[in-house]
Amino acid sequence: MRREDVKREELSPMMQQYMDIKDEYPQELLFFRLGDFYELFFEDGETASRELELTLTGKNAGLKERVPMCGVPFHAVTPYIEKLVSKGYKVAICEQLEDPKNTKGMVKRGVVQVISKGTIVDPTLLNEHDNHYIASIMDFNYLYVLCYADISTGSINVLGLPHSKEKLISEILNRKILEVVLKENTDVELIGLLKGSYGIEVSIEENSLENEYQNLYENIEDERYKECIKHLLYYLVVKELKDLSHMSPVNILYADDYLEMDIHTTRNLELVETLRLKERTYSLIWLIDKCKTSMGSRKLKTWLMNPLKNKGLITERYDKIDKLNNEFIIKDKLRNALYEIYDIERIAGKLACGNLNARDLLQLKASLKVLPEISEMIKELQFDYSLNTHEEIYQLLEKSIYENPPVTVKEGYLIKEGYNQELDELKSIRKGGKTFIADFENKLKESTGIKNLKVGYNKVFGYYIEITKGQIKEVKEDLHWERRQTLTNCERYISPELKEKEAMILNAEEKIIDLEYNLFIEIKNRIKKDLLKLKETAEILSELDALASLSVCADEYHFVRPTLNEEHMIEIKNGRHPVIEKVGNMEYVSNDCIMDSSINTLLITGPNMSGKSTYMRQLAIMIILAQMGSFVPAESANLPIIDKIFTRIGASDDLVSGESTFMIEMKEAKNAIVGATENSLILFDELGRGTATYDGMSLASAILEYISKKIKCKTLFSTHYHELVDMERKIPTIKNVHVSAKEENGTVTFLHKVKSGAIDKSYGIHVAKLAGIPNEILNRAQEILNVYEQDSKKKKENKQDDSIQLTMLFEEEQTKDPIKEKLKELDPLRMTPLEAINALYELKESMKK
Ligand code: ADP
Ligand code: MG
Repeated sequence: MRREDVKREELSPMMQQYMDIKDEYPQELLFFRLGDFYELFFEDGETASRELELTLTGKNAGLKERVPMCGVPFHAVTPYIEKLVSKGYKVAICEQLEDPKNTKGMVKRGVVQVISKGTIVDPTLLNEHDNHYIASIMDFNYLYVLCYADISTGSINVLGLPHSKEKLISEILNRKILEVVLKENTDVELIGLLKGSYGIEVSIEENSLENEYQNLYENIEDERYKECIKHLLYYLVVKELKDLSHMSPVNILYADDYLEMDIHTTRNLELVETLRLKERTYSLIWLIDKCKTSMGSRKLKTWLMNPLKNKGLITERYDKIDKLNNEFIIKDKLRNALYEIYDIERIAGKLACGNLNARDLLQLKASLKVLPEISEMIKELQFDYSLNTHEEIYQLLEKSIYENPPVTVKEGYLIKEGYNQELDELKSIRKGGKTFIADFENKLKESTGIKNLKVGYNKVFGYYIEITKGQIKEVKEDLHWERRQTLTNCERYISPELKEKEAMILNAEEKIIDLEYNLFIEIKNRIKKDLLKLKETAEILSELDALASLSVCADEYHFVRPTLNEEHMIEIKNGRHPVIEKVGNMEYVSNDCIMDSSINTLLITGPNMSGKSTYMRQLAIMIILAQMGSFVPAESANLPIIDKIFTRIGASDDLVSGESTFMIEMKEAKNAIVGATENSLILFDELGRGTATYDGMSLASAILEYISKKIKCKTLFSTHYHELVDMERKIPTIKNVHVSAKEENGTVTFLHKVKSGAIDKSYGIHVAKLAGIPNEILNRAQEILNVYEQDSKKKKENKQDDSIQLTMLFEEEQTKDPIKEKLKELDPLRMTPLEAINALYELKESMKK
């Protein structure tokens, strides 16, 4: 049965109400509250039953047939919502807006909130280490504006980006934005990429929020930024009905203030997740996150993903870490205090737009309790934070909230005695009632002489006097008892006196629950007034926690404070890759990296598995750590401030976009070549590997030459083309280094030590042996290799100059093959996929000829 097809006038009033509300939310799954359940009807019910693996039943709705229905209990709804939302559905929550007890006829209902992928606030559904972002993107033709918010913590940021889809997507992935709101006229290709290739939820919205929440962006002048903010706010406030009273003012990010790294770099360096398993374990953040609070963890991650470029700001963090290192007793005390702090940011988020309960308020109280202590420590450390201790709110919570409250806020037991006089009076009536019952029972036993008489209570019949069957004859007429209920072996009665008390006790109970709820809401609203101040406190605590974490790393992993120079110099003594050092199964071999202002490029050769990639990653990680304000894994480090890092490391085939390794290699190379400045760092790991030897080698050497001569940025360039090592002689800013290996009795040992000069052996067969390739193949490979080597020796003897040899090699290749000629003309960087397929087709055709 489809919703569209039913005759509305035949429906029951309740179902008509459902239909009216559902009309407003055609796209969303409507969770319709009916007593203790949320019910979904028609197509929504079918979808929910399929996706949640729940039975599809039916509901009488006035029609001949029952309406398809799927229901979930309201107290267990959260995981169901999460499951649907993570599958890309939006969920509209429709509540009863009146208390059924106090209403005659049908209860008013309405949607109170819409939840989508980017706007979950329930902390039980969120990863504590991560922010959870929803964004609006606006395309101004020459620039994109990106505004993104985390509703659960109440932060909102805006930034402008160059008009490049690649950069935009890189930002979205780097910042882990889960949902974007776009205008209808947005580039379809962009929408396709976001949705199809990267699984980002896309919502279309045309409107902007004009007259609300202006306080959030009153500090912003740029009209383009404002437009983007208002666009996101409209979606949140009007479409999803979010209360944003906990949001901090919009924070403007200037991309220029931060070290630029694209998504390839952050992934390759495994900053926040590992390359293969996409897990936090064994990533850099996993290593350095020693935070005691989730707010600290999120802050540290933000620092790691946004390293600074301002020397002053960076050294401020160094100074604080230094201080904490020296004052280790205070540091320990501080971390113990931080351990007591709950996720204040997310409690604030829940307070504004979630289901805050009394337990959350107790968590807030416990967090506030340690603030005076922390404030003292800040003074002792002479840190420039002024921490609000929220004395008043703490006292309020201490006075008011009962220590062991239930999860729901509508069953009473929330408020302490002594907080509210009326409540105390009602409670004493209730209590008095209970003593009355006990006394009453004893009195009756005596006056009637019935020894096993009982006074009890149940929900349906209220209070009763219970008499066993055998004793019924003792119930005399003149007692004026009325029969209430008959059970198999006893009768239950009510007496006039009991009836009177019953009314009073039950009344009190009901009033207590209502009053407690109202008092709770009052307390909540009082705290809401201080939300922004609480968030400032949360901000300070998260910074302290992140700094303490970095200080612990410095201690535990023997990191040192780097020196920052403006002379373009890299001077690292005994640097290490901190993650491999920690989890590798061998003793880590530390390495120097020295590039004074006269050297821009290290050309790294060495056998497979010797540690070339690790050496390159190590440098990038060192720079990132240094610029996020952390100490670094080395004996000493003198580093320049880098503006951008580009990497081409390893084979990270982009399976989703279906591009070949070589295409990706070249695209990443292009990004670096176009984007790098003199102050950038480029890591090219075996560039050119994805194509034929001579292509690859020539491209590699041309690119290397271009970077060294034109861009002049710091570059690590590893290669297996030994022909390239001659470039050292031609270009003075290039220096050869190699990672050493030792060969003894036919086996190699990798020493992982980086030394000056080049190496000319690649030990490929040895590595194959280590990998367990059968001896038969290895021996045969050795034979073939010997032939090749003799061949090339002969060639070398014939030709004096290596560079001539290189060109000669090219010429040999160039026996006019029409297919090769055609291939040479193609420029994959400038081709659309369609053109590429056509070209491939033509090539195939010409092969047939
Ligand atoms: P390559 O890029 O030369 O093939 P990798 O950098 O991938 O080599 O390193 C190969 C392995 O050697 C890695 O798994 C790593 O654990 C180990 N390794 C690399 N560098 C070192 C080092 N300096 N000390 C100890 N082990 C290392
Ligand atoms: Mg490698």
